[in-house]
Amino acid sequence: MPSYKVTLIKGDGIGPEVVDAALRVLRATGVRIDFEEMPAGEAALEKYGTPLPEELLESIRRNRVALKGPITTPVGSGFRSVNVGIRQALDLYANLRPAKTFEGVKARYSDVDLVVVRENTEGLYCGIERFVDEDKTIAESVNRITRKASERIVRFAFEYALRENRRKVTAVHKANILKTTGGLFLRVAREVAQDYPEVEFEDRIVDNMALQLVKNPEIFDVIVTTNLFGDILSDLCAGLVGGLGLAPSANIGEEIAVFEPVHGSAPKYAGKNKVNPSAMILSSVLMLRHLGEREAADKVENALREVIKEGEKVTYDLGGEAGTSEMAEAIARVIEEA
Ligand code: NAD
Repeated sequence: MPSYKVTLIKGDGIGPEVVDAALRVLRATGVRIDFEEMPAGEAALEKYGTPLPEELLESIRRNRVALKGPITTPVGSGFRSVNVGIRQALDLYANLRPAKTFEGVKARYSDVDLVVVRENTEGLYCGIERFVDEDKTIAESVNRITRKASERIVRFAFEYALRENRRKVTAVHKANILKTTGGLFLRVAREVAQDYPEVEFEDRIVDNMALQLVKNPEIFDVIVTTNLFGDILSDLCAGLVGGLGLAPSANIGEEIAVFEPVHGSAPKYAGKNKVNPSAMILSSVLMLRHLGEREAADKVENALREVIKEGEKVTYDLGGEAGTSEMAEAIARVIEEA
């Protein structure tokens, strides 16, 4: 049986609790993973004087795979987001966020199965912002869109669709108003789509897309879009299936991939053994699939779905009374007893 080396970042706030929960479940699969634990965020600030030490990036470059808990970012001041920093430093250009209905979770729909593919490196997140005047009353940001990044993200979405037997790719944009930046993204998406005649392709303007996702989510499949729209729409999709506690993600580059929950460090719950470990566990599922451990990935996802469906050993956000570790233990037991 192969063994894998993976960089582990426990993160801030609730990070260590949800990561420990995921590790318990991963152990139950029998897949041999040797974790190299590295600090980031507040923990790294104490030790290295920076929240994003070069040692951490080196470890991820060496191992090519990382499992990461959430990291706190101070709002408006303090250090830059470590999460954005990791994605940019390692050129993790694709952010993959699946949203699939969970039986037993109260949600508006019972048949959602969507994947948002978000461009992760440019757009309004390229970090070029300034005040225009001395009084700081006018501010502007650069929305950089390149042919190269647009092409590789749309190609990624189509390749993903082919690999995972998905039927349709929808490119989301605002090319009617942002004629240059949005127009470039749309033009490239249409060009790339011609290379994949076996997958249906359509494009939608982002405001209409938000409306349609809320009204008819079942008509969509894989959604590919620029950075900011992807950020917003993927939270909307998480809301369609039950919220942040259930939303995993993968940040994928040419050779490196980092798996993390969509949610943040929820500081008010830190150390309380209260929050839902599912998003972190499902991020491990995406990691197992990436490693080629599809059988183990299916086992974990099925066990998690079973525990949620039964509804007894689930956390407060799913209407239960179990703690983070109890829910993880229940999932691990389902795997071990199968
Ligand atoms: P958050 O996701 O931490 O929390 C928002 C609310 O969502 C919480 O109050 C809680 O009610 C709920 N929630 C989150 N995770 C949950 C879980 N696992 N189970 C149950 N409920 C859960 O978002 P925030 O409060 O906006 O951000 C807190 C910090 O996290 C900030 O510093 C932010 O920058 C950071 N953050 C980090 C990441 C990341 O590391 N990728 C992502 C988002 C936010």
